[in-house]
Amino acid sequence: MTRRELSKDTVMQSAFQVLKAGQIFDGVQARGPGMVMIENGLIRDVDFTGAVPPENATVTDFGPAAWLLPGLVDAHVHLCWDASTDAVAHVTNDDPGAVLDTARTAAVTALRTGVTTVRDLGDRDYLALTLRDQVPPTQRPEIVAAGPPITTRGGHCHFLGGEAEGAEALLAAVRERTERGCDVVKVMAGGGNMTPGSNPLHQQYGPADLRLIVEEAHRLRLTAAAHVHAADAIGDVIDAGFDTIEHFTFMTLDSAGLRDDLLDRVVKQRIFVSLTAGMVPGTPPPPPAIAARIDAMIDVATKVIASGARIVVGTDAGIEPSKPHHVFPYALVQLAGLGMPTLDVLRSATTEAAEAVGLAGRKGVLRPAADADVLVLDSSPVADVSAVADIRAVYRAGHRVPGN
Ligand SMILES: [Zn+2]
Repeated sequence: MTRRELSKDTVMQSAFQVLKAGQIFDGVQARGPGMVMIENGLIRDVDFTGAVPPENATVTDFGPAAWLLPGLVDAHVHLCWDASTDAVAHVTNDDPGAVLDTARTAAVTALRTGVTTVRDLGDRDYLALTLRDQVPPTQRPEIVAAGPPITTRGGHCHFLGGEAEGAEALLAAVRERTERGCDVVKVMAGGGNMTPGSNPLHQQYGPADLRLIVEEAHRLRLTAAAHVHAADAIGDVIDAGFDTIEHFTFMTLDSAGLRDDLLDRVVKQRIFVSLTAGMVPGTPPPPPAIAARIDAMIDVATKVIASGARIVVGTDAGIEPSKPHHVFPYALVQLAGLGMPTLDVLRSATTEAAEAVGLAGRKGVLRPAADADVLVLDSSPVADVSAVADIRAVYRAGHRVPGN
């Protein structure tokens, strides 16, 4: 770089913007009034001392009632799924262009809802990565992607194209995901509800296979997420060392029942539980297998919350009509309704989730050097977490997202 270019660069960098509000939640604590200084898409500084903004800054003051918080992180979405009653058919049979359009719309919807980071735990043809490549970062959430979930032949969500069995094929599957640019490996450790012929109570892989997948993922610097409903499979994925456990419902033949010994291990080992929460009111009910067990599953979730386990919020957005891509605020309201203190709900959706998806320090915090993904609310989410639905503005990498 020549001296002239360097000085031009310095001049450009000196133009920064400041967001001010009466209250700031920084991802950990409510900190009172302050300002966030943004430069080149990153947070340069966060001030709570009442300092005067630098002269060359563009200042936006949202006023004393407004709150600034980190952009939210949904730890479990499916961008390629259109949240229709036929979501499986759409993602399976429609041409890639149509599915990519679904993902593009889903990404914009999530971003306008204040979700500035999503972890996509199941696409087809690596379309979440295609989307990430095609759409500039400021026009979509940060996308942490798994590609097609690894599953058994004919197993849960096999129609997404991730079938692999046997050590060699499993290692190849993990390596393919690394080469494609995935950040996380998603494994269907047990069966699921929306795949004909799959039983959520059954294990899909043995303990040795699960351990192999996790070790290879970690060796290649990917995180590992396990889909699991029943207790035996939950035990296996704890043994295998998965970073996040999805669903964690403790589903049984006709109900759901927590196993305290397994929950204790999750708490002690500080494994992230990705609780599946959030349903938009007035939409068709969940699948019969879930609807029949919903009270028992809510009881399990309540006990998991009370246990002190590290919880992140995964909506499973896209899979059915009650989970459209703007469902996230409903998940936060639901967790608060199950007894989680509002500050913990907000941490689950910011700092904790960022760590769970492998982006600690970059996402989920308002601190120097973090990405300038900022949510502006009209009222206090600590007093009432449903305030996250009253969005004044969303900033993604320092750019204000149109539409709020
Ligand atoms: Zn899912």
